[in-house]
Amino acid sequence: MSTALKLAISRVDLETIIECARHDYPYETCGMIGGRDHTARIVAPLPNSSPTPRVHYEIERQAMVDSVMRFHRQGLEVVAIYHSHPDAPAAPSATDIARATWPDAVHLIVGLQDPEQPDVCAWLIRNGEVQLVELEITDWSPAA
Ligand SMILES: [Zn+2]
Repeated sequence: MSTALKLAISRVDLETIIECARHDYPYETCGMIGGRDHTARIVAPLPNSSPTPRVHYEIERQAMVDSVMRFHRQGLEVVAIYHSHPDAPAAPSATDIARATWPDAVHLIVGLQDPEQPDVCAWLIRNGEVQLVELEITDWSPAA
């Protein structure tokens, strides 16, 4: 699978993720995004099972598996994994880089340092290397 450095996501889906991040404050929110061709189609908010959720996230294992199976049933892949940084910028932390799995999935991060102006950035994290991914915010919602 080739990976272009781009992720298209609808404004509505992005707002859903930002709302989850605000709702879960001061803890990190997390979830997966199902889609195809570098385009987000489904946002799946999932439980953060980290024992230190203010500064880390671990997507609850069974919820992750269920979500991946649901995507596959709909012919979708995991195009992105998202989480929030309640009090830090939208850049991957050292832990995010060290623990990144899913080399073909984009890591979308919401930074809530300024809750009125959330910062959203997307990254590819592979073998300890980080690349910024272009986020294309669309006004249309693709039918899932
Ligand atoms: Zn992080």
